[in-house]
Amino acid sequence: MPNNVYDLTRKTDDVVIVGGGLAGLFCALKLAPRPVTLISAAPLGEGASSAWAQGGIAAAVAEGDSAEAHAADTIAVGGGIVDEEIALGLAREAGARIDDLLRYGVPFDRDLEGKLAVGREAAHSARRIVHVRGDMAGKAIIAALTEAVRKTPSIRVIEAFVAEALLTEDGAVTGLQLRNAKDATARPVIIASRAVVLATGGIGHLYAVTTNPQEASGLGLAIAARAGAMIADPEFVQFHPTAIMVGRDPAPLATEALRGEGATLINNFGERFMQKAHPLAELAPRDIVARGVFAEIAAGRGAFLDAREALGARFAEKFPTVYASCLAAGLDPARQPIPVAPAAHYHMGGIAVDARGRTSLQGLWAGGEVSSTGAHGANRLASNSLLEAVVFAARIAEDIAGHEIEAPASLPPMLVVPRNGPISPLAEKNLRALMSSHVGVIRDGDRLEEAVRSFAEIERDAGGIALRNMATTALLVAVSAWSRRESRGAHYRSDYPAEKPLLAHRTMTSLAAAHEIAETLEIREPQNAQPMIA
Ligand SMILES: Cc1cc2nc3c(=O)[nH]c(=O)nc-3n(C[C@H](O)[C@H](O)[C@H](O)COP(=O)(O)OP(=O)(O)OC[C@H]3O[C@@H](n4cnc5c(N)ncnc54)[C@H](O)[C@@H]3O)c2cc1C
Repeated sequence: MPNNVYDLTRKTDDVVIVGGGLAGLFCALKLAPRPVTLISAAPLGEGASSAWAQGGIAAAVAEGDSAEAHAADTIAVGGGIVDEEIALGLAREAGARIDDLLRYGVPFDRDLEGKLAVGREAAHSARRIVHVRGDMAGKAIIAALTEAVRKTPSIRVIEAFVAEALLTEDGAVTGLQLRNAKDATARPVIIASRAVVLATGGIGHLYAVTTNPQEASGLGLAIAARAGAMIADPEFVQFHPTAIMVGRDPAPLATEALRGEGATLINNFGERFMQKAHPLAELAPRDIVARGVFAEIAAGRGAFLDAREALGARFAEKFPTVYASCLAAGLDPARQPIPVAPAAHYHMGGIAVDARGRTSLQGLWAGGEVSSTGAHGANRLASNSLLEAVVFAARIAEDIAGHEIEAPASLPPMLVVPRNGPISPLAEKNLRALMSSHVGVIRDGDRLEEAVRSFAEIERDAGGIALRNMATTALLVAVSAWSRRESRGAHYRSDYPAEKPLLAHRTMTSLAAAHEIAETLEIREPQNAQPMIA
């Protein structure tokens, strides 16, 4: 729908949901028939990580499996800081949410007896991943929910508008400031609302190498933090070890199944470098392989996935998607090694929420990847993120349904933004490069300090609100990574390579706290500055 036909004159809304991925669409459907406005930066079905999910949704629905076993697996990979009650709640509600998705028209694969077919994934102790036509889960789920949303008269959809600021008064949300996604210089539009749900996805696109869409630039997290919301665990970012480096942004994935089939990781000299890093070599846990690949590239030796011997002529038939990505770049993976690098893939941290999805600001809820529920701790168990998105979207809808929400009497004033304009491609490129090199797979105090200083400066001097919001989220990640002087889960510090039992707790912070640390680092000698978590 072209933007100019939206009725943006109806500016006072009961409930506003920002985000058209799984969390946003599911929450809107669950709230029906209550009137909801759903805003998405991209047309529905595009610009959302949800649509790209290949594995599926973890749900202990098979005979012999249990919610307790699912929760135990989630806790085991989470680096000792998973909120156990939340993990168990997710696992227990999985079956009911899968039933909801079936009702909304998602065609999950079934076995010969008509039961849900379940697949196995790394670190799950049972077969429990429900999927659609093999690796098409995300696409099929988003297609079904988009159709259901479009058929629901109580949901007003506004596409190609970006939320760029949350408006608040006395710690309570009063509305949102939006702008046409295609025109950074357009006049902002204000929507007044006392109930806003942020479901804006992750932060992968803050990194130069990522599997996430461009819309996953951490804007939702930034606008919540700028409005004063508490932020949890921002330092925990999961990297996929083998994104294909063929000049595409976002980078396509070389699935882990390739290594399962015997493909090896080699450097420019044809040497297998994972053998000396871990007894399981290429089949070591995801974060260890990601670090091995990162270190090899950082040392200037390059990293390649070599499937010539393991797959050869069978490559095209066994891995058609990866084969097509390589071929489009003029590379034949049956005969040539594939250049790879670790890519930012999933954010465990986000806006801190309680078990109902409530943030620390009155009238603000957050669900899906933008939130941090505590379910993933320092590392996410595969296929738990789609599950978290639906479980919390349903809880948020239930919480809002039980709320009397008073309609705002008038439009809140617009935030004063001194300048605005299109984001400078060079400024964005620099920020993303700095995130990858300084706040990436292997971190250390010196480079994190440098990153903190740079992001604080970009945030202060940004010519436009879009770049400023990106810098805000980058700053929160960098400051928390600098403060956590240990290695835990996906957060690895080469200067503090061990886990410290005393630090086995989540990070709870705010933008004000991050600014304070950034200021200290900007004016003091590095060794005098104190981390916010001791
Ligand atoms: C390649 C890939 C494969 C994956 N595979 C799996 C898997 O198999 N299983 C699994 O559980 N997880 C998987 N994940 C992770 C999972 O897809 C995500 O964590 C999950 O889909 C997040 O859902 P969401 O609704 O929170 O965000 P998204 O689906 O990313 O949706 C966010 C929405 O918010 C919009 N938006 C963003 N900012 C703004 C703004 N400022 N204003 C307005 N709108 C905005 C976006 O356009 C989008 O519509 C995968 C991720 C990737 C990238």
